[in-house]
Amino acid sequence: MAGLAAAVALVRRGVPVRLYEAARHAGGRCRSFYDARLDRTIDNGNHLLLSGNRSVARYVRWIGSGDAFIEPRRAEFPFVDVRSGERWCVRPGSVRFLGQVFSRQRRIPGTGAWEYLRLLRYLVAPTDATVHQASGKAGRLFERFVEPLAVGALNAPASEGAACLLRPVLLETFLRGERYCRPCVARRGLSEALVTPAITLIESQGAQVHLSTRLEALAMRSNVVVELVFGHATVECGPRDTVILGVPPEVAQRLLGSLRVPRGHSAIVNAHYRLEHPEAVRYRPAPLTGLVGGMAQWVFLREDIASVTVSAAGALVRQDGAALASRLWRDTAQALGIPEDPLPRWRIIKERQATFRQTPGNAIRRPGTSTWVRNVVLAGDWTDTGLPATIEGAVRSGFAAAEHAVRWRQR
Ligand SMILES: Cc1cc2nc3c(=O)[nH]c(=O)nc-3n(C[C@H](O)[C@H](O)[C@H](O)COP(=O)(O)OP(=O)(O)OC[C@H]3O[C@@H](n4cnc5c(N)ncnc54)[C@H](O)[C@@H]3O)c2cc1C
Repeated sequence: MAGLAAAVALVRRGVPVRLYEAARHAGGRCRSFYDARLDRTIDNGNHLLLSGNRSVARYVRWIGSGDAFIEPRRAEFPFVDVRSGERWCVRPGSVRFLGQVFSRQRRIPGTGAWEYLRLLRYLVAPTDATVHQASGKAGRLFERFVEPLAVGALNAPASEGAACLLRPVLLETFLRGERYCRPCVARRGLSEALVTPAITLIESQGAQVHLSTRLEALAMRSNVVVELVFGHATVECGPRDTVILGVPPEVAQRLLGSLRVPRGHSAIVNAHYRLEHPEAVRYRPAPLTGLVGGMAQWVFLREDIASVTVSAAGALVRQDGAALASRLWRDTAQALGIPEDPLPRWRIIKERQATFRQTPGNAIRRPGTSTWVRNVVLAGDWTDTGLPATIEGAVRSGFAAAEHAVRWRQR
């Protein structure tokens, strides 16, 4: 997404672009593919955006794929406790949220009005605090709203996730008002919403897109890249060219030789189920439902495919797929209000390196856009965007890299 965002921003400004991607497909960690077992096109993982993600909104406007998203009319986050079956709905950012805070009947069950003031602690959390440390005494509000949100946004348990990364999320979405925190999802898939239209736009502007082309090395002279080395071929870099490295942190580190990057990754596990009777779903995710008290964390439903996300899933990636599928199905069936038997057709996707480990220690190891090589800049959700490792962060980093490239051409 970072590389695509940079390319889109550049072709719009008439800058010639060549895009090189090691994989056979574009989109990186954010893509769709056809799954023969389910006989459906599915995403590698459920991706949630918020209506306040302003860089993604601009990117989507530029590539013309606004219709490819579902944005509900109201910001609503339904939850279920799979142990007790209790259900509640959080309506953040709205007058109704204030009403919810001060009305005992409408508050998240078990929470007190003053607990909500604790949300402000994340705005002033020191850079070395974890979400857990910033929360102070964890109560029901923490368990039933803050923790699921933080684990989802940071892909880390609250005891590890950096509280300072929640601050921009709160300021740009939840604290800005109802219009900015509506949960948005791709209508038919991530590739159709975020990848394919970008490639079409880039190519229509005469740019070249090379898939299955891995950058192996950078040939440098006097702190400037003069050649890109791809296996057996090399590509010359002109004096006005900028190399935008939209690659994972360890690849950028290897290519540049010296670069401080965040250490380690966190996994996300997704389970996709093809429902035989989608019409029987009693509680429809809108567009997602949060789960507490079980193993599954969020359930999404797209036509007859129910998909479940587990973030910070390091302990799960070693488990057998079939065992995971039946364990996660129990939670899913309960969340959707459908019978547990039979287990539908399933697909488990384990993304071992879903994001960098978003700990306080790693938050300060994120490099900025420019590097010690004068015509090389970095882009990626792991660079110092100030945001968690999300599509919004990746796109914003791509825009920043494009800005550098334009300045380098004009110098
Ligand atoms: C399962 C899952 C669920 C997620 N859920 C959400 C969510 O709900 N909301 C959200 O906002 N974000 C979510 N994310 C995070 C989001 O997907 C990422 O933040 C975003 O896609 C990162 O984009 P990127 O361009 O920074 O990195 P990447 O997608 O990793 O792109 C790097 C690209 O570089 C290529 N590459 C690597 N080495 C080379 C080389 N030597 N030469 C050429 N190319 C190379 C790779 O093939 C890849 O395409 C999720 C991620 C996963 C995996």
